[in-house]
Parts: sequence; structure tokens; C-alpha cells
Amino acid sequence: MRTFFLAIIALILMALGGPGSAAEHRDIVIDQVHIIPMDEERVLRDRAVRISDGQIIEIRSAGHWQADDGIQLIDGRNGYLMPGLAEMHAHVPGEQAPMQLREDILFLYLSNGVTLARGMLGEPWHLELREGLEEGQFLGPRLITSGPSLNGNSVDSPEAGREMVRDQVEAGYDFLKIHPGLGRAEFDAIAEEANELGMAFAGHVPEDVGIYRALEAGYASIDHLDRYPRALVDDEVLERIDPGFFDYRLAPHAKAERLAEIAEQTRDAGVWNVPTETLMHNLLLMDPEEAPRQRPEMRYLPAEMVESWQDWARRTQSDEDYDRDAAEAFVALRKDLIKALHATGAELLLGSDAPQVFNVPGFSIHHEMAIMEAAGLSPFEVLQTGTVNPARYFDMGDHFGQVAEGMNADLVLLRANPLKDLSNLRDPRGVMIRGQWIDAEQIGATLREIEDRYARD
Ligand SMILES: [Zn+2]
Repeated sequence: MRTFFLAIIALILMALGGPGSAAEHRDIVIDQVHIIPMDEERVLRDRAVRISDGQIIEIRSAGHWQADDGIQLIDGRNGYLMPGLAEMHAHVPGEQAPMQLREDILFLYLSNGVTLARGMLGEPWHLELREGLEEGQFLGPRLITSGPSLNGNSVDSPEAGREMVRDQVEAGYDFLKIHPGLGRAEFDAIAEEANELGMAFAGHVPEDVGIYRALEAGYASIDHLDRYPRALVDDEVLERIDPGFFDYRLAPHAKAERLAEIAEQTRDAGVWNVPTETLMHNLLLMDPEEAPRQRPEMRYLPAEMVESWQDWARRTQSDEDYDRDAAEAFVALRKDLIKALHATGAELLLGSDAPQVFNVPGFSIHHEMAIMEAAGLSPFEVLQTGTVNPARYFDMGDHFGQVAEGMNADLVLLRANPLKDLSNLRDPRGVMIRGQWIDAEQIGATLREIEDRYARD
């Protein structure tokens, strides 16, 4: 009887939220803050943003609400509040990785204001993780995930391709990831099945498919600007030159006058691009010995991971076929392509590809934004690629991508105006995910813990 009674008390306490948890259920107001709403290029000065149950419920002028039992007040003075960023080419370690590493990588994204990760190589555990993140069992960005890769090894016939599409739809993945090596017949079967089922497919463009077929087949996004260089050179160039990593050796032979045409075709096809520029730069041009000094954030990852990247970059750059001039031409050409895509109205999404070759999750998004700006986008336009554009891409414009009433409370509070300088996105004063506030102190403390965990001797 006594046990039963205690159990009832425990249930009542749980229903009340238990001791000390009242704060979690209080509304939060970020007060005296400047807002970058991202609906258009503007700053709303001196506002108060009220958050309840993970949503922005009301925005009023500063000082509208007072701290009391119902409200936790966050001082936003001199700060700039904007929507959290999406990393549209993210990798999340899978079940074979140590749990601690998985959690650390999720936190690294969040610590840099990334509140949405599009996972580009899914597995069954990521479906659990997607729910676990929503339910607060994990601390990290929201996850939208592909299924396991469809590639030349995983798909050996058109029927196998169709079956894999159906299985992944059934399993509940958000989209399909296409990798190199797929034959044309397999790809066509996959694209047809996916389009019939309303399942998006994205990623690489296999060689047998090519950019024109990819545009026609209805890729949701092409990642890495894959296969575009081939649209820019004459056929005879393809016959005599080994194109190399992402076709970089074709770059010196590219015809600039073809950029506008392929950009227009991309726009007309409604295909989005996730350039992942920093990946190309890092692998082909960055000095692997200097990289750890140039990217000090690599201290937040295990030494083996960084060393394996250094090995890859060393092998690439010391190969007898390595052509540094072509690599430089390639990186420059891709900037021109981004500019042409943007100028013609083809859609761009922010994605760096992390963790991958010197790209540390979260931190790499800042390098990617700098390259997008160097390609000719204004800071506001760069921010669009990581906020309102992903929201439109996922057809979730009513849920995230802006600071407005009714939107998810996925936010980043900055020390200075990012529209003036994108580097103001670094080192935020706080990040909010699903209404949960993580201040700079907590971010700093957790980053120090992560650094200690992977400390080099
Ligand atoms: Zn990737």
C-alpha cells in the first residue's frame, strides 16, 4: 500500500514537472534586442521577443514584459537576434561511432548557430536521432536525413534501385542520397520511382547521368556543383583530359560564356544547388601541414579524424597528376558559377560538408559564408541561403527561417550586426533551439570539455 502511495506521489510530481523544473516551462523573453527578421533586408530595433513552448508567440517593443514567475528575461541589449542557420550538407556520425563523438558533433553544430542539419548520409539510427532531438533526448540541431546512399555498389539493377526507393520511403527517411557510380538505367529507374512517390533525391550527379539529365530528372538539390564543369568545356577536352577530383582539371578549359546558359537551365529546371565550396578549397589548395593552425577549431575533433584529412590532402596535392594551377582555376570558376546561378535566379543553399576535410561542424559554415560573399552575394543574400531559402526548399516557410510570430524558436543571438560583417556570426552570445536557451557561458564550457576530451599530447 505504501509503495502504491509513493508511486502516486511520484506521478503527481512528474505531472507538475518535478522539483526545479518550473523554469523550463516558463515563457522566455529576449528583451532590448535588435531583430534581423530575414523577411527582407532590415533591422527591427529595440524589441522584445516572447517564446513559449518552443515557438515565438509575440514580438513587442522593448520593455513590454517584466521578469516574474511566468517569464524568464534574457538581456539582449546591443545584440542582434536572427534565425538559426541551416547546414544543408551535414554529416552526422552513425551508430558505429562512439556515442560521445556523436553528441559532440551535434553540439559543435549548435554552438555556431546551426539549428538545422540536413544529414547527407543516413542510416536507421538517424531516424531515432531525428525523433530524439525533437524530444530533447539529444542536444543538437533539428535533423532532416537522407537514407543510406544509392550508388554503384548499393544498386546493381533498375529494379533494385526502385526497391531501395520504396524501402526508404517506407522507413521514413526525408530524401534519397545519390552518389557516384550509378548507371544511367539504374538512375532513371530511381528518379522515376522517387518522382512517382513524391520522394526528393539529392546529392552527387553520377558520370553516366550528367548535368543535363540531372536537371531534367528533377534533382531536389545538386551538391558540390557536381558535373557542372563538363557543361562548360568542348567535347574534345573531355576526350584528352583526365578530369580528376570533381572535374577540377577541366577548369582551365572552361568557356566563361557558357556560364549564363547553364545557370538559366538550372533556374528553369527548379533545381537548387548546395555548393560546398570550402570542401574544394580545403582539399585542393589548403596546405595540410598549416591547416590545424589556420583552422584552430580542429582541436574539437579527435586527432585521428584530422590526421586522416591531412593524409587525404597530402596524397591529393603530392600526386604526380596534381595540377595546382588547374585547382586554382577550378575554385575561381566555381565562384563565377555561383555568381551566374545567383544572378539568373537559380536557387542556392548554404552547405559546407562537415565533418569533412578540415571542415569542423558548425565552424565550417562561417568559411562557406565567406566564400559565398567573395563569389558576389551580399551578406544579406548569404544569410538567405542559410535561413529563408532552406525553409522554402523544404516547403516549411511558415515554421522556420525567420524571426516572426508563429515561427519555431530556433535562434541565434549575436554581439554585432551580421548584415555589416558576416564574421559577426562567430562566437554568439547564445543559441536557442526548440525554445531551449544555451548561453555563451554554457557554449564555452562545453567546447572546453570537448577540447579536453580530444587533447593532443
Ligand atoms: Zn557529403
